[in-house]
Amino acid sequence: MAKPSIAILGLGIMGSGMAGRILAAQFPLTVYNRNRAKCEPYVKDGATAAATPREAASRSEIILSMVSNDDASREVWLGANGALAGAAPDSLLIESSTLTAGWIHELASKAAERQCQFLDAPVTGTKPHAASGELLFLVGGSADTVAAAQPVFSVLGRETIHLGPIGSGTLMKLTNNFLCGVQAASLAEALRFMEAGGLDRRKALSILTAGAPGSGIVKRVADRVETNEYTPNFALRWMAKDLSYALQEASSRKIALNTVLAARSVFERAIEEGHGDEDFSAVAKIS
Ligand code: NAP
Repeated sequence: MAKPSIAILGLGIMGSGMAGRILAAQFPLTVYNRNRAKCEPYVKDGATAAATPREAASRSEIILSMVSNDDASREVWLGANGALAGAAPDSLLIESSTLTAGWIHELASKAAERQCQFLDAPVTGTKPHAASGELLFLVGGSADTVAAAQPVFSVLGRETIHLGPIGSGTLMKLTNNFLCGVQAASLAEALRFMEAGGLDRRKALSILTAGAPGSGIVKRVADRVETNEYTPNFALRWMAKDLSYALQEASSRKIALNTVLAARSVFERAIEEGHGDEDFSAVAKIS
């Protein structure tokens, strides 16, 4: 069976790894990125670069977006020359960015108006997992549409979990990330607390990471602190965004997320102190 043609919208840290996987699996690929220079390596490897999301969509049966936030997603799908205007009826649209459920529902209804299939399919895993096809897809949408997307998910991910109707993947992803963000912010405050009391950072971190508080995320942040290396796998400003989106979703359901509110203020301080473009673990550098 011929492989479906794919468009990837957004060649940032995650989209670039995903595009590399699609090319390696020899699917016909069209790439779009706002800053067009990022398309060049993929064109060298056989992809087509589109000047607009609309052009990318018009060349493709499956269109996957991996951009920063709700505004960027709105721009690539519905902006002037957005992908939705170029998508043929029956094409399959996948939104893999971490966004609000409110925007996902709006986008899903626009996709339905054009008779396109739609999934929200955010991912866990980070830069190396995107590049090696080991993402975990958290998917909302109909079972038939998930099945139609599986050939792509199989190339990009180690597992696909269908959580329920549209918006379910997004709710799961925001929950996953707020738990990570709260732990990272808490470790940042723990470091200040311990050091203000004169404890040795290295000894203290080895006790915490080997003990009950040593979750995967705490270990990841502690590793970055040890090596003092903050090149982004996941930018700090996007973790702050995810905490804000979780708060927004909670407030629409009249639920208070007090720990998330506190964690967001820690991340906001890190952004004010100039760490927004570093890895999220740079939250540990707050003064
Ligand atoms: P990134 O490296 O900052 O890339 C962001 C992408 O969005 C770039 O392609 C950027 O284009 C594009 N973009 C931003 N604003 C735009 C606009 N107004 N119009 C069109 N394109 C726009 O981010 P990332 O780390 O790949 O993350 C992408 C998404 O995946 C985010 O929602 C993030 O929360 C989520 N995510 C990230 C990770 C991770 O570990 N990195 C893991 C899971 C989920 P330019 O190149 O032109 O700026």
